[in-house]
Amino acid sequence: MPRILIAGIAQEISSFNPVSTEYELFSIQRGTEVLEMNRGTTTAIAGALALFEAHEDVEVVTTFAAKAVSAGPMSADCWSQLSTEFLDSLKPHVGKVDAIYLSLHGSMGGETDLDPEGWVLEQTRLLFGDNVPIVFSLDLHGILTAKMLHHGNAVTAYHTYPHVDLHDTGKRAASLLLKIVDGAEPVIARVRVPAIVRGDELKTDTGCFGEQIRQIKELEASEKILAGGFLIGNPFTDVPELCCQAFVVTDGDQQRAENIALELASEFWANRELMQSDLVPLEEAVSKAATMNGPVIFTDAADAPSSGSPGDSNSIISEMFHTEYPNSVLAAVTDAEVVKLAVAAGVGGKFRASIGGSLDPRFTPLELDFKVKLLSDGNYILESWGVPQNSGITAVLTSGVFTLVVTSRPVSQFDRSLFLGHGIDPSRYHSIIVKSPHCQPQFFDEWSEHNFNVDAPGSTSANLHSLGHSICARPIFPLDEQVDFNPAVEIYRRH
Ligand SMILES: [Zn+2]
Repeated sequence: MPRILIAGIAQEISSFNPVSTEYELFSIQRGTEVLEMNRGTTTAIAGALALFEAHEDVEVVTTFAAKAVSAGPMSADCWSQLSTEFLDSLKPHVGKVDAIYLSLHGSMGGETDLDPEGWVLEQTRLLFGDNVPIVFSLDLHGILTAKMLHHGNAVTAYHTYPHVDLHDTGKRAASLLLKIVDGAEPVIARVRVPAIVRGDELKTDTGCFGEQIRQIKELEASEKILAGGFLIGNPFTDVPELCCQAFVVTDGDQQRAENIALELASEFWANRELMQSDLVPLEEAVSKAATMNGPVIFTDAADAPSSGSPGDSNSIISEMFHTEYPNSVLAAVTDAEVVKLAVAAGVGGKFRASIGGSLDPRFTPLELDFKVKLLSDGNYILESWGVPQNSGITAVLTSGVFTLVVTSRPVSQFDRSLFLGHGIDPSRYHSIIVKSPHCQPQFFDEWSEHNFNVDAPGSTSANLHSLGHSICARPIFPLDEQVDFNPAVEIYRRH
C-alpha cells in the first residue's frame, strides 16, 4: 500500500509591486485540514486527492498547504517563517512515505530567495532522499527552474488560461506519481524561449497559444508520454530564469521528449509578436466610452491583484473625474484608510477623502466626496471556484457617477465575485473597471458593448517595457531589440 504525502505552497508575485508579502497574507492548512478543506473543491490538491482516494490501496498523508493572493515579493521574515514551517511539517514523515506530490505555483519570489519553489523541492529531496519520487504541479504562469527540475522527478502544469483546470492538473500529477511508483522512468526535456508574453492570443480557448496546448493534450493521451506543458511564465516575476518554456516528460524515451519540446518551443517563438498586448491609451478609451451606449468594460490589467498588483490604482477614475465623465461607473479600489473613514462615518454617512495610491506611489490620490452605501466584513464566495474570499472590512461608496467597492486588502478580480458579494450587479452600470488581465466571457464580455484593454500605469502592466526589469536574463523579447533564439534541449532524469 503506497503512502503518498501531499503538501503545497503557492503564490504569484509582481516584483514591481512595492508592497512586500508578509507571513499573515498566507492562509495555511495544516495536517488533516489539507484534506478537509480541499476535498470536493476545484484546487489542484483536490484533484490529486480525488485520484488517490479512487485507489483503495493508496494511503494519503497531508502536512501543509499555504496559499496567498498575489502581491509583492515575500519579505525575509515571511519566507523564513513559511519555509521553516513547511519543512517542519515534512520532517515527521521522513522514512514513512513512498512518494510525494507538491502543489506549487512557480512564480513565487522573496527578497532573500528568488526561487522559493526550487528551495522547496531541494529541501524535500534532501529530507526524503533519492528513492522517494516527487511530482510537482505548477501554474501556467510558473517559472520552471533548473533547481526544481533537478530535484523533482516530474512536473505537470495547467493547460488553460484563464485557469479552469487546476483540479485536472493535480489529478494528472497524482496519476503520474502512481505510474512512477509502479516503475515508470520519467525523462524530462525542456526548451527555454527567451520571451515574455501577454495578451489575448494566450487565451487557450481562442488564442494562437491554445493550439499548442491542444497538441500537448493529444500527446499526453498517447502511450509513453507522461506529461507535457508550456509555461508562459509570469512576466512580472523578475527573477533570473524568467522566460517561456516547453517541457515534455516521457517514460524513458529521451529522443521523443527532445523532439517534441523543440518543436513546441520553435512554434511558440514564431508566434511571439502575436503574443503581446494591444493596448488603448487611457485618455482615448475614456473619451470614446463617454459617448457609447454601454455597458463598457475597462480592462485594467496593470493593477490586477490576481497578477500581483496592490489594486489601489485610481488612474482610470481620475481620468474620468477630470474629464467629467457622464456615465455611471463601477470600480474596486484597495484603500484601507478610506475604509476606516467609511466605518467612522457609518452607513448613510458622508465624508471627503483622497482615494487611490495608498500602496503604490505610481498613483496620485484623488480627493472625492463620498457617501457610504454599505459596509461589510469582506467575506464572500468566489463565483469561479466556490471558495471563500476575504477583502477585509469593505465599504461600498458612491461619489457622483462613481460606485466604488473599497477594500482593506487586495483581492482577485478575474470574475464578478467582489461586486456580487456586495450586492452589486455590474451589468446595471454603464462602465465597469475590471482589474484583471482576462475574464471568462460570461462574466463581462458577453453582455457588454465593448471592452477597452487600457494602457494604464501599474505594477502588472501588459506594456512590458514600462516595468523596468533588471534581474531576468537578457536579451529577452520584447524588452530587447536583438534577440536570437538558439533552441537548446536540457534533459533531466533521476534514475
Ligand atoms: Zn496563472
